[in-house]
Amino acid sequence: MKTVTILGATGSVGTSTLDLIEREPDRFRVRALTANGDVAGLADAARRTRAAIAVVADESCLPALREALAGTETVCEGGPQAVCDAAAGADWTMGAIVGCAGLGPVMAAVRAGGVVVIANKEPLVSAGDLVLAAAAQSGATLLPADSEHNAIYQCFDRARADRVRRIVITASGGPFRDWSTEAMRGVTPEQAVAHPNWSMGAKISVDSATMMNKGLELIEAARLFPIPHDRIEIVVHRQSVIHSMVDYVDGSILAQLGPSDMRVPIAHTLAWPDRMATPMAPLDLVALGRLDFEAADPVRFPALQLARDALEEGGARPAILNAANEIAVAAFLARRIGFLEIAAIVADTLSRFDPPAPASLDDVLAIDQEARRFANDGVEGRVKDSVN
Ligand code: NAD
Ligand code: MG
Repeated sequence: MKTVTILGATGSVGTSTLDLIEREPDRFRVRALTANGDVAGLADAARRTRAAIAVVADESCLPALREALAGTETVCEGGPQAVCDAAAGADWTMGAIVGCAGLGPVMAAVRAGGVVVIANKEPLVSAGDLVLAAAAQSGATLLPADSEHNAIYQCFDRARADRVRRIVITASGGPFRDWSTEAMRGVTPEQAVAHPNWSMGAKISVDSATMMNKGLELIEAARLFPIPHDRIEIVVHRQSVIHSMVDYVDGSILAQLGPSDMRVPIAHTLAWPDRMATPMAPLDLVALGRLDFEAADPVRFPALQLARDALEEGGARPAILNAANEIAVAAFLARRIGFLEIAAIVADTLSRFDPPAPASLDDVLAIDQEARRFANDGVEGRVKDSVN
């Protein structure tokens, strides 16, 4: 029996993880499930899986959670610290909290050791060095759930990392991959969250549309795999069948293919180093017929260049990129700014704020907060301009 904890159990990645776990009740026992404030979703999942602990990060939801789980043996907790406390202690922990709120809980899981699966991008993007150092110290095994990094993980021969010529990260290109910049100017949140290949949370769907998601993934890949940054390439592959590739010096390219369903990479991490069945039909290669590849366009999708620059510059830059992007995406989803202004606000924030590299998680959180203030000022300025 493997004990498992899901941080962010009510989200898109969280529910995909629960689906797999519930298919093999003899193999997995649920220790803790956490959510922000979705009491109904959390309580339902905790009842079905007989979770030992259920935690709401929003403490005001704790009474409702207790009521919803009355009569069960599940212990209910509330507040951000309770999420961190619940993050330690399982054999296998999924980090699927969206945004910077996932930083502390993932660090707590990494410090405790065991297998920690990273879906949430912030821990690697904003605090990558700290997370890797903590894992080295505790002996935690980090496994990537993001489909691209999971694909690379499956193809990357760590013992022969110096024989890798390049990593090729594939990108669907998002819903606007064929659109001109002018056409993208008037894009609505509804259009941006309608991803052609993947069903995901709203924030990451917008990131796919701006291609900031691929930029963040570039930074994640640089943290996870020992290879010079300029040897990590991004290629648009509209079918999202090849999830990424590793090219070796002898000319062999290893690729991982699969359906566009997060349950495939999550299952890899859940069973690792074993394998487990998933309910997906086998890929029908004949029906698929073809696989297309195109160059990624950093002119129409400036987020790609912003992310590459932030990676190169290092220090606090990736954390600023990420925080500014979160603010800009939220403002776009709230219809306060236009689609093209998302990358513009990220660029403005990076140009106005340049603190020293973070040395601790508190430093990262302080940089994150400060970058959000700058980005919020940028949003307000633009909203004012558009009103005047
Ligand atoms: P989601 O919005 O569907 O779910 C987020 C989860 O985090 C929910 O359970 C929510 O209750 C919880 N949460 C939100 N705010 C919180 C807070 N302040 N404190 C504690 N918990 C909080 O998001 P998702 O699509 O499942 O993505 C989760 C993470 O995984 C993101 O970082 C995303 O970038 C990454 N990811 C997602 C996918 C995907 O296919 N959805 C793929 C790769 C990576
Ligand atoms: Mg991905």
